[in-house]
Amino acid sequence: MTSEAELVRRIERIKADLAHLGDLRPGTLSMNYNVCGTPNCRCKADPPQKHGPYYHLSYTRYGKSRSEAVHPEHLVQVRAQTRNYQKFQVLIDQWLDASIELDRLRRLGNPPAPRSRRTT
Ligand SMILES: [Zn+2]
Repeated sequence: MTSEAELVRRIERIKADLAHLGDLRPGTLSMNYNVCGTPNCRCKADPPQKHGPYYHLSYTRYGKSRSEAVHPEHLVQVRAQTRNYQKFQVLIDQWLDASIELDRLRRLGNPPAPRSRRTT
C-alpha cells in the first residue's frame, strides 16, 4: 500500500508539472481539402487537385461545439497547445486519483473517536 508521505510527494510533483505546462487549448485538429465553384478549376481536373490543405480546430466548451480555422503557420503552435491540454488532463486525473487515495488513507488511518453515549 502507498504511504501517506508518498501520496503527498506524488501530488506535489503533479502540481509542479502543472505549473510548468505551457499554453493549452482543448480540441482536435483536422485537415481537409476542398472543391470550389469555379468552372474548369484544377480542383475538377482529372485527377483533381483539390484546394488545401485547410486546418480546423474543433472543441466543445460549455456544451457548445466550435470549430476554428487554423492558419498553416500556426499549426506547430496549436499542436503544442492541444498536446499540453492532453497532458493537463492526464495530470488532473493523476491528482484526483492520488487525492482520493490520500483522503481514504487519512480517514481510515485516523478514524473518528467513537461518540460517547449519554448514560442515565
Ligand atoms: Zn477549385
